[in-house]
Amino acid sequence: MTCTRSIRIVTLLAAVVMASAQQPQECADLQAKVVSLEATLRRLKTEISRLEELLEKLHPASDPAAEPAPAAKSSRPESQRCAAVTRRRKQCSRNATAGSNYCWQHQQQRR
Ligand SMILES: [Zn+2]
Repeated sequence: MTCTRSIRIVTLLAAVVMASAQQPQECADLQAKVVSLEATLRRLKTEISRLEELLEKLHPASDPAAEPAPAAKSSRPESQRCAAVTRRRKQCSRNATAGSNYCWQHQQQRR
């Protein structure tokens, strides 16, 4: 009894495996498309990060953005990030201290 049933299950499983192995051509085409799109996406992501790095390097050292941008504070009042810009041309990632636009470190530097 049990033996016949398990044989039937195995046969069923084999049929399922065969069915998924013999996919219609359309489905295989779609899979190939997805794979190539994923590769394209990865390439584009790499390209974007490369271009961002390049853009950072191209920024002139005398950029007026080194001064604190007042717009940044009004657009995101809840986050209160330090308004100072680091030597790497990125906004300081520390939180500003209460009642100030700068973190503790940049506050000290500006006094
Ligand atoms: Zn800071």
